[in-house]
This record gives sequence, structure tokens and C-alpha cells, in this order.
Amino acid sequence: MLAPDADALRAGIAALTQRVLPEAAAAYGTVLSNGSPGQVSHTVRVAVAACTGCGTRQRLFPHALVSLLARVERNQPEAFLACPNGHLFEGRRDRPKACPTCGTRTEPDTAYTPRRQATCSCGHSKRLEARAGDGLDWEVVLVERAGVNRRELALPTRSELAAAQGERWQPTRVLGPIREGQETAVLLRHGFRNWEDLYPRRQRYVVERLLELTDDCSSDQSVTTALSRPSSAPPRWRGCSPAGTATTSRATSRWPGTASTS
Ligand SMILES: [Zn+2]
Ligand SMILES: [Zn+2]
Repeated sequence: MLAPDADALRAGIAALTQRVLPEAAAAYGTVLSNGSPGQVSHTVRVAVAACTGCGTRQRLFPHALVSLLARVERNQPEAFLACPNGHLFEGRRDRPKACPTCGTRTEPDTAYTPRRQATCSCGHSKRLEARAGDGLDWEVVLVERAGVNRRELALPTRSELAAAQGERWQPTRVLGPIREGQETAVLLRHGFRNWEDLYPRRQRYVVERLLELTDDCSSDQSVTTALSRPSSAPPRWRGCSPAGTATTSRATSRWPGTASTS
């Protein structure tokens, strides 16, 4: 296959950008805390599963320290912490804090799923795989918003939650079953059956729309092939975090203890 002409590729990218912007704004558009417009650039999710003892649904945070507020390299202590009962709140990585919701003292360096065991407040302890056997849900707990010269990590607003979970995101493509293997065993143990299970519904829908729109963006087939190649490639698994937060793109996360998707 010939490489596309640079000008034709640039025109194709411009056409695709123009076509996808309205849908991208509907999917990810938001407002930053200072009132300026922006997009949700990352969505952090946590696994939720029922206790096999008492049936209570529990957020399975791997650690009390969920994420720093600023990027790691800025070395600031402000962080989002999760109490043992799964409430998320702002605190510091270097000092304990009582949960504002339930009052439970929360130590930032606590691991909640040591040796892959999750313990419910009823005292029942079970391996994460057993919890996943009844199905894991993934709940949005934090969003990263990006605007002009500004990024912020925050608890999601009601409209951001509604946008993440909207019924309009109905992807249709099937990426095939995850086959057994050394690297995929952890995924299968935690309830993922097909490759598309690794991605949130909204992200899958938007990627599918990108692929559909790509066909229409150039009469030069080498351009449409080049535009569709990055997103049509098989998903690369970059380190699932089965103990808790989010699914696929851990390597892209800029904060420790979290992983995020879009
Ligand atoms: Zn329980
Ligand atoms: Zn609490």
C-alpha cells in the first residue's frame, strides 16, 4: 500500500475533524470549574460488585489513595482518597482524614484489596475473581477536564455522569473473544469475555463513528486507510487493573493508583 500524499492526508484529517466535532462535543463536552468550556479527557472508573456474603454492592478501590489532584511530577500532596466504605473525597496523600460522608478514618497508604482479597464491611472476605464471577460494573468516580491551558481532576457532575452513561451510545462492532493465554488470563478471571468489554460504551460508540466518518473524508483510498488504521487496529491491552479502577489504558494515566478511559 502506497503512503498517502501529505497534502491529501492533511485535507482528510481536516475533513474528519470537522465531521466528528459535533458528536465529540456531545460525548465529551463539559464546563471547567472556572466556567470555561472544555472536554472530558479521561474518565476514571472503579469496579463495583456485590459482596458474596451479604449481597451489598461495594466499590472495589484497590487503595485508599485514588489519585493525586496534580500531576505526579508537581509533587503536591492534595489527593482524592477513598474511605473503606467506598466514599471518595479530597484529602492529602501524607495525612489521614475522616471521611466526610461516614466519618471513617482513612489512611492514605491503606491497600483495600491485599492479596486480591476484597473485604466487605460485613466482614466477609472473598477473592476478587469470585466477586467478578457475578459480574463487575464500572462506575465513573472521577473525570479529568481539559480546557485551554488548563486541566483539572474532579468528582463528576450530574451531567458528566449522564453523558458517560447515555443510552444513545450503542456500539455495534464485536471485536471477538479474548483467547486464553498467559497475558489474557487475568482479564478472563475478572469477567472480561470479549475485547470490546474492555472499553466503555461511549468510547466504543465514538470510535465506531470515527471509523464510519473516515470513509467519507477523502476520495483517496490511501488516505482513508491511513485515517482508519490507528483506531481499527486490535485493542492493545496495556495493563488492566483488576483490583479496581478502570480498565484499559493504565499506561496513559498521569496519576498513580488510577487508570482511565474516555
Ligand atoms: Zn458483605
Ligand atoms: Zn465513608
